[in-house]
Amino acid sequence: MLKNSLFWKIFISYAGLLCLCLAIAGYFVNKIIQEYSLSPLTRTMAYDMKTVIGHMLPAFVITLVIGFVLIRINTSSFLHITHIAKNFARGNFAQKAEIVSSDEIGDLATAINAMGAELQSRKQTIVDDKNKLDAIMAHMNDAVITTDLQERIILINNAAKTMFDISTVVLHRDYLWEKIRNEKLHRLVRETIKTQTARVSETEISAPEKKLLHIHLSPIQVDKENQGILLVFHDITELRKLENTRREFVANVSHELRTPLASIKGYVETLLENNSLRQEEIHEFLHIIMKHSQRLDNLIKDILELSRLDSHDLKTEFTMLDIHPCIENIFSQYQEHGIRKNQALELDIPQQLPLIETNEYLLRQLLTNLLDNAIKYTAEGGKIHLKVTAFNTSLCLEISDTGIGIPQEHIPRIFERFYRVDLARSREMGGTGLGLSIVKHIVLLHHGHIQVESAVNIGTKFLITIPQQQSKHPA
Ligand code: ADP
Repeated sequence: MLKNSLFWKIFISYAGLLCLCLAIAGYFVNKIIQEYSLSPLTRTMAYDMKTVIGHMLPAFVITLVIGFVLIRINTSSFLHITHIAKNFARGNFAQKAEIVSSDEIGDLATAINAMGAELQSRKQTIVDDKNKLDAIMAHMNDAVITTDLQERIILINNAAKTMFDISTVVLHRDYLWEKIRNEKLHRLVRETIKTQTARVSETEISAPEKKLLHIHLSPIQVDKENQGILLVFHDITELRKLENTRREFVANVSHELRTPLASIKGYVETLLENNSLRQEEIHEFLHIIMKHSQRLDNLIKDILELSRLDSHDLKTEFTMLDIHPCIENIFSQYQEHGIRKNQALELDIPQQLPLIETNEYLLRQLLTNLLDNAIKYTAEGGKIHLKVTAFNTSLCLEISDTGIGIPQEHIPRIFERFYRVDLARSREMGGTGLGLSIVKHIVLLHHGHIQVESAVNIGTKFLITIPQQQSKHPA
């Protein structure tokens, strides 16, 4: 043991040196007494010296004991400090050296303690930084991968594992191309390694599911000696879909607006240029202009309504409402419309309904669109029925008609913006193709759901269920 070897080295050297001195002194005195003819005085002195050396032995033993104790005290402080320094080397900075004296050993212990505190604080900073980085990486939505210049993965976060369906990775050993099979990605990585310049691109992956990814690649310094590549992947599938939907929507809106506008323009030009028109013709043209203006007005209203619903502003305006008067009021308005088409409108609503957490404006909009369609797509003499029931914690609304019905193949698409089963008929009726999209939006804002049952020439039934109260923490 180093501890003991140090102690014993000092102790044995000290004892050995003393023994050697005494032995040499004794030997010479003895030799002088035996071999030289000494005067009586000198002989007496030599004998005295021999006696003194003989007496020095107990003194030596005592000195040895004292020396042992002193060396033990001094070396134990050193050994204690050595032990602490070894712990520092193992990364354990918690132990402190005892400061037992104010001499050099005390100074050494103070210095060791200061060094320990400094190392401890630096270690803590490194651990904190690493924890922060780990937390950021673990909770990032973007996928992050770092590779070395040989394309071996040296870091990968959870998002990347999920995005590319990677279950296990052996860091510093598995290659990127082993884990992600994408030719374009590997070409980009190789180019970045070669040119050492950052680049941005997009690529499509097909597994585990089809996705469009935005990739940012940049060369980085991984550590003191090694360089690597940082890859950040952002899933832009939904964003691109949204962009396409918006683009389509804008194209559809322009088209829808242009059609009535072109008609209005044509009829106005005819009216302006042709002075020989008869009164009935002028009246007819003005009537057509009026109809197209109304269509334009409907379109603009519906577009604004959709954009308002998209912005989710109305969600904050939900209150507990007695919907009875509101439903009766809307229904009576539509009864008048129905009378004009000789249609029978029936309302089936219980006297007592629980309060519903909703927004009156949205509820009106929903019923208006559905009743409007029911009247529009039901022939003269048909029947329209609105049934309201409260069931468990839900409110159910059933709007049925005996109208033209919707062919089965069209049902999945009728809630899409501008989707119409029969475009000409819808336009003729002043439809915009946005009514059911608005209805669906409103139902979703209530965290409810909507179903359609329909049979051609028999009729259509829309079933809507919304919770009586909105969850405080909707999913
Ligand atoms: P529109 O303004 O054309 O009525 P909607 O979005 O309200 O647009 O409806 C989309 C399409 O669904 C309509 O064009 C129509 O073909 C069909 N539809 C909606 N409601 C009914 C109904 N009650 N009976 C038959 N078809 C309907």
